[in-house]
Amino acid sequence: MTSDFETQLRAVSLRVTRPRLAVLAALRDHPHVDTDTVIALVRADQPTVSHQAVYDVLRALTDAGLVRRIQPAGAVARYESRVGDNHHHIVCRSCGAIADVECAVGHAPCLTASDDHGFVVDEAEVVYWGTCPDCATDRTAH
Ligand SMILES: [Zn+2]
Ligand SMILES: [Zn+2]
Repeated sequence: MTSDFETQLRAVSLRVTRPRLAVLAALRDHPHVDTDTVIALVRADQPTVSHQAVYDVLRALTDAGLVRRIQPAGAVARYESRVGDNHHHIVCRSCGAIADVECAVGHAPCLTASDDHGFVVDEAEVVYWGTCPDCATDRTAH
């Protein structure tokens, strides 16, 4: 399975390094985590990796398109390794839980602007907001 990550890195001309492999593995197993969580996950395996090294890896992987950075309004940035499929996210207003929502159309932009003002539209940023099942249960229990 490591070789998949090596192939991905080589495909975008990034050198294969242990921290880069560790970040990709962490995001595969834990989608939508924030930077601190990525650092903790990487360090569980490689305790000597610095915070800065993880920041740098996240930036390099995001720039290369291997990692997608999402930042719901009012929340810290989260990262995931599921890229290129224009999926959307549903965010809990109460606890910040995030889940993937398949794009109904499958490609960007999946919403047609009622008036594009002559722009060439390449993306519609869709975020669904609501209350997750756990928080909805909490609310009715009180
Ligand atoms: Zn919640
Ligand atoms: Zn996602």
